[in-house]
Amino acid sequence: MWQPETLTVFAPRTWTMSQNRVVQGRMVNATKLAELIEDGSVMEADSIGEADRECPSCGGDVLEVGYMPSITEFVTGLKCQDCDWKETDRD
Ligand SMILES: [Zn+2]
Repeated sequence: MWQPETLTVFAPRTWTMSQNRVVQGRMVNATKLAELIEDGSVMEADSIGEADRECPSCGGDVLEVGYMPSITEFVTGLKCQDCDWKETDRD
């Protein structure tokens, strides 16, 4: 969801990346979103997209990001914008 009032607060320091989104009240870029999903550092992350689904936990909007947690692995992660719910496409 677009939240211009939140952007106004955070924009001066974090607007260097064009793909920032608000997740649980914080501005995150693709790398930070991937780190939230992975619960650790990632090597590289694609841009953030909107997942075509609702959060099964709270019904909120879900973001999608593809990232590489390691050189040999590419994962698509999902993260709710409103609560702690997250998921990856790992087996
Ligand atoms: Zn949720």
